[in-house]
Amino acid sequence: MSASWSNNLNLTTTMNNRPKILIIYTGGTIGMIENPETHALQPFDFSHLMDNVPKVKKLDYIIDNYQFEPPIDSSNMDPSHWRDIALTIEQHYDRYDGFVVLHGTDTMAFTASALSFMLENLCKPVIITGSQLPIGEVRTDGEENLITALQVAAARDERGRPRVQEVAILFENYLWRGNRATKMSADNFNAFKSFNYPELAEIGLDIEYNTPYLRQMPPRPLKVCTDMDSNVMFLELNPGMTKQTLDYLLHTPGIKGIVLKTYGAGNSPSHPWFIECIRQAVERGLVIVNVTQCVNGGVNCSLYETGNSLTSAGVISGFDMTSEAAITKLMFLFGMGYSASMVKKYMASDLCGEVSIP
Ligand code: ASP
Repeated sequence: MSASWSNNLNLTTTMNNRPKILIIYTGGTIGMIENPETHALQPFDFSHLMDNVPKVKKLDYIIDNYQFEPPIDSSNMDPSHWRDIALTIEQHYDRYDGFVVLHGTDTMAFTASALSFMLENLCKPVIITGSQLPIGEVRTDGEENLITALQVAAARDERGRPRVQEVAILFENYLWRGNRATKMSADNFNAFKSFNYPELAEIGLDIEYNTPYLRQMPPRPLKVCTDMDSNVMFLELNPGMTKQTLDYLLHTPGIKGIVLKTYGAGNSPSHPWFIECIRQAVERGLVIVNVTQCVNGGVNCSLYETGNSLTSAGVISGFDMTSEAAITKLMFLFGMGYSASMVKKYMASDLCGEVSIP
C-alpha cells in the first residue's frame, strides 16, 4: 500500500543561498517511542524526532521535511514505498541541494539499492540514515547520524559541486555506497558495512571523503523509473535441500527471477538431479543469478567444478553484488519490461556502481 505524506515545505527556499535539504522521514527506530502498554517500540511523528535534536537548528541550513503518514517500521517497506520516496525526490529535485532519508535499519540496504536503480542520472546526494536506539534515548546514535547525514547532504567540493552524487548510507563512522552496503549487526552502532567496496567517507573529527571512490556524474536530467516487478525471490542453498523442495520453489507461480544464494565462490551441489532442476527452470525462462552467501568476495564459477555446472545449466553470475542489490536490480529490470535475455545482459553490466565486473 502506498504511504500518504504530510509535509512542511518552506517555499522561501529558492531565495536563499544556504544549503537546502529535504528530509524524507519514513519511520524506523530513530523516530520510535515506547508503547506504554506493550513496551514495544513503535514509529512516531517527525515533530517528536526534531524536538529531540535541537542541535539541528545550529546548522545554517534550510531544512524542510516530508513524512510517511503514518511512519513505518522498515520491515513493512515495499516497492510502493520506494516509489513514493523516488517520486518525492523527483518532484523536489531542482529545489534542494540534497536529500536525507530517515529509515529503519532492517531493510535500509534494500531501499538504498532500489533507489540507486530508480534514480537514473542522479547527481545530488541522497543520504539514508537511521539509528539503533530511538532519538529520545539518552545514548541514542540517532542525533549524530542525523546531523552528519545533513552535513554530508550539504557538502560541496572546491568547484561547488555536491561531494556525493549518489545514494549512500550514513551510519555511525562511515558513509557507504547504498547498493554496496549490507546490515551486518542488529545491535552495534556501526550497523552497516560494504564488504566489497571501500567506504565513501570516514566520519571522525572531520568527514574524510574517499574521493576516488565517489561517483562523479556528468550533469544530465534526472530520470526516475519506479516500476518494480515483485515476481522475484531469494533461494538460499543449505546442505540437505531435497529435490522436492528445490523443484517446488523453482515452480513458484509467476516467478521470473531468482537470486540463488550459493556457497563460497558460487558453488552448489553438483548432483545430476540438482543441476537438472536448475537447467529446466532456466529453459522455462527463469533468470537465475548466482550470488554468494559469503559477505565478502564474489562469485567465480570457473574456480570449482561445482560452480561450473551452474554456469552450464544457464545460471548467470552476480559477481560481487550484495544480495540486496541483486534482488532489487532484478525487480527493476523486469519492471522496465525487459525480456529474460535483456535482463541477463543488464545483470552482467554495472548500472550504477553496484557491481565490479572482472
Ligand atoms: N525495526 C526497525 C526498522 O527497521 C529497526 C531499526 O530501525 O533499526 O524500522
